[in-house]
Amino acid sequence: MDFAFTEDQLLLQQTLRQYAKEKLLPNYARWDRGEKVSRTELHEAAKLGVFGLRVPEKFGGQEADYVTCGIMTEELSRGDFNYSLYIQLGVIACELLSGFAHPEVQAEWLPRHATGDAVIAFGLTEPSAGSDAANITTRAVKTGDDYVISGEKASITFAGYADACIVFARTSDQGARGISAFLVPLDGPGVTRQVYKTPGERLTQRGSLFFDNVRVPARNRVGGESGGFAQAMIAFDFNRALIALACVGAAQQSLEDTIDYTKGRHVFGKPLAKFEGVSFQVAEYLTMVEAARLIAYKCLWLKDQGQKHTKEAAMAKWLGPKTSAEAIHACLILHGHYGYNMDSPLEQRWRDVVGLEIGDGTPEIMKGVIAREAFGREYTSYRD
Ligand SMILES: Cc1cc2nc3c(=O)[nH]c(=O)nc-3n(C[C@H](O)[C@H](O)[C@H](O)COP(=O)(O)OP(=O)(O)OC[C@H]3O[C@@H](n4cnc5c(N)ncnc54)[C@H](O)[C@@H]3O)c2cc1C
Repeated sequence: MDFAFTEDQLLLQQTLRQYAKEKLLPNYARWDRGEKVSRTELHEAAKLGVFGLRVPEKFGGQEADYVTCGIMTEELSRGDFNYSLYIQLGVIACELLSGFAHPEVQAEWLPRHATGDAVIAFGLTEPSAGSDAANITTRAVKTGDDYVISGEKASITFAGYADACIVFARTSDQGARGISAFLVPLDGPGVTRQVYKTPGERLTQRGSLFFDNVRVPARNRVGGESGGFAQAMIAFDFNRALIALACVGAAQQSLEDTIDYTKGRHVFGKPLAKFEGVSFQVAEYLTMVEAARLIAYKCLWLKDQGQKHTKEAAMAKWLGPKTSAEAIHACLILHGHYGYNMDSPLEQRWRDVVGLEIGDGTPEIMKGVIAREAFGREYTSYRD
């Protein structure tokens, strides 16, 4: 068994940790207070590599392995949790487009994605179908050489400013087997957007995308007809580990900040850190955060080896956000009134992390996946 990162990965980790501290953390609160991301900032993020991580080299990307994607996610989240969303959605888009899209669609969108000229959202959830995603009602009807798409996609990360969305739509009435995926540019006729007011992750302008008879060429279908649901599940499997690492990065930074703070803060004549009621809380969360980190990296390593990783992905997605939200909450309390203050990143981190307890699958759904893998498919509650 070998837990070591490669030399290159260690160097990347070190460089990104410094970058997150010096460049990202000072700006973290800007998005929270309503500032909108500019194209220049997207280009800056792209130069850092966040969009091109999994873009094939021939299209200008880094074609990094998944463990490296995890390192980048964890490290950047220490400074600005929101940057992890660029990585998550970017890696999903690349997985689906590189693996399944028409070569012309790949050549048009992947190079633009790598440079930050095209932010690509993932549109599965609908107002009446989240956990039960096989029940979506958005329709794509084949009309000549085109598909015509109508419906609403809800709770979509980057809805406010994405340039395109991979939209999952029904091409037949056969449940999960009747769903196909389409790359839909969002600047055409029939597309409208509504950005939500959200407690956190405000950089992402999460919201609804409405499609009213939106026409796309048949070549924009991503993969074969009816293969969409399976593709979405492939994307979930590794992204759940990235989500865990995003949360772990934010929690780890909060715990390290809390160690520093409690060493310097004196109460009852000695440093706070000398009280075991304080230091043991940090010790417990350091342990649990490390456990979440290890499951997440194991999942990404399995993906890199081409091995099944559905169970590990669900374990990481359940444990990572939950443990991190609890750890950050504890850190906030251990900072006293300084923690409950918008000058401290702790309260924003906590709000940001909680969003990803829900996004990409709730704790109940993750436990359902783990149970399904452990007990067998015939014991799932959604099969009679
Ligand atoms: C921050 C954030 C970002 C997101 N980004 C995207 C995105 O980019 N693209 C996208 O398509 N979607 C996105 N989503 C949507 C997200 O994937 C869904 O919200 C999620 O899958 C849950 O669906 P739902 O909200 O409809 O809840 P529901 O499915 O209505 O569930 C409500 C509650 O019931 C529980 N529940 C449901 N079924 C069961 C069951 N069988 N057993 C026990 N309990 C159950 C759930 O755990 C939850 O607590 C995002 C959501 C958030 C919060």
